[in-house]
Amino acid sequence: MAQTFEIAVFEGDGIGPEIMGPTVKILRQMSDASDRYDLQFVDAPAGAAHYAATGQAFPDASMETARSADAILLSAMGLPDVRYPDGTEISPQIDLRKALVLFAGVRPVTVKAGQPTPLSMPEGKEIDFVLIRESTEGLFFSQGRGDVTENEARETLLITRDISEKLFQFAFHLARGRKRTGRGPGKVTCVDKANVFRAFAFFRDIFDAEAAENPDIKADHAYVDATALWMVQRPWDFDVMVTENMFGDILSDLGAGLMGGLGLAPSADIGLDHAVFQPCHGSAPDIVGQGIANPFAMILSAAMMLDWLGIRHSNAALVADGTRLREAVEGIVADGQVLTRDLGGSASTTTAADAVFDMLFVT
Ligand code: ATP
Ligand code: MG
Repeated sequence: MAQTFEIAVFEGDGIGPEIMGPTVKILRQMSDASDRYDLQFVDAPAGAAHYAATGQAFPDASMETARSADAILLSAMGLPDVRYPDGTEISPQIDLRKALVLFAGVRPVTVKAGQPTPLSMPEGKEIDFVLIRESTEGLFFSQGRGDVTENEARETLLITRDISEKLFQFAFHLARGRKRTGRGPGKVTCVDKANVFRAFAFFRDIFDAEAAENPDIKADHAYVDATALWMVQRPWDFDVMVTENMFGDILSDLGAGLMGGLGLAPSADIGLDHAVFQPCHGSAPDIVGQGIANPFAMILSAAMMLDWLGIRHSNAALVADGTRLREAVEGIVADGQVLTRDLGGSASTTTAADAVFDMLFVT
C-alpha cells in the first residue's frame, strides 16, 4: 500500500522557479515509480515577486497549505529591489520558521572524493558532518528590536530550557540515525562559549542532561572559536554538531565554504510537526533567467526531505530513494562531466538536472 504525502511547494523568487521545476520533475518520477509512496504537490505562491504583483508577500492560503502539508519544499525568496514600504526585506521563509516553530536548522556538510573543496584532503578522508543551528532564539532573539541609544546598544541572548531540550533531543536522534545507516560514528558535539557566558553554561548543562539520557551516543563539547579552527584543520572528525543561532549562522557559511560554495549546500528547518527543505543559497538575482543556476543544492534538499519523511513515517522506500537521489548528485559531481558554471563547468540548469534524472531512471 502506498502512503500518500502532500508536499507544499514554494517556488519563490529569482532562480527559485528555475531550480524547483526540475527538482519536482525528479520527485514526481520517483513517486510514479514507487508503489510504496505517493507524493502530491501543492503550489504555495509567496515571496517578493508575488508581493510586487498582488501586494501580498505571504497569502494566508499559502500559510495554510504549508501548515497542512506533510513537508515543505522551498527554493529561495526575496529580491533586492522589492521591499516592504518600511524598507525591510521580504522573507516569508523567516515567517514560516517562526509560525511553525522550526527550531532546528540542519546543514549537512559533505565533501566526497572528487568534489571541489578549498581544503587539501588527506588520502582516504571525506567530510560528512551535520551542523544543527538553533533557529528561533539565541542571539537572534531581539532581531530588529535591540535597544539602541546615542551611546549604547544592547541585544538579548535568549536560551530557553524548552527549546534547548527539543534541540538536543533532535541532535541525538539524528546522530543515532546516522550511526544506524553507517554515515557517522554516533557522536554529538555541543558547540558553545560556556567558559565566558552563563547563558552558554546553561545551554551546556541542558546538553549534558540530554547526553546522559542517550548513553549509546557519544557526547562532547567544543568552544565555538576552536570549532572554527577544527572545521578547517580536521573537519572529518565531526559527526553531529549542535549550537546556538548566531554561532550556527556563522559556522554554516564556513561549512558551505568547505563544500566549494553554495551550489551544493542543502538545508532543512525542522520542528516537532513541520519541516522546510531549501538550499542554503538565496534567489541569486544576478543570474536569473540565464538558465545557468545550479540545481544541485535544491535537489539535495529534496533528498533530505525524502529521508525525513521516510524516517518520520517508517517508510523505508522513501529513505532509500532519498539516499539514491543524494548519491546520484554526488556521483555526477565526482564525475565532473556535467557541472554548472559555479562549479567550473558549462552545463545549463536543465542539462545538470537531466543528468540526475537520467542517472536514476534511464539505464
Ligand atoms: P540571501 O540573502 O537571499 O541569502 P545572498 O545575498 O546571500 O542572498 P545568493 O542569492 O545566495 O545571495 O547569491 C550569492 C551568490 O551566489 C550570487 O553571485 C549568486 O549568483 C550565486 N549563487 C547562489 N545560488 C546559486 C546557484 N544555485 N547556482 C549558481 N550560482 C548561485
Ligand atoms: Mg545569504
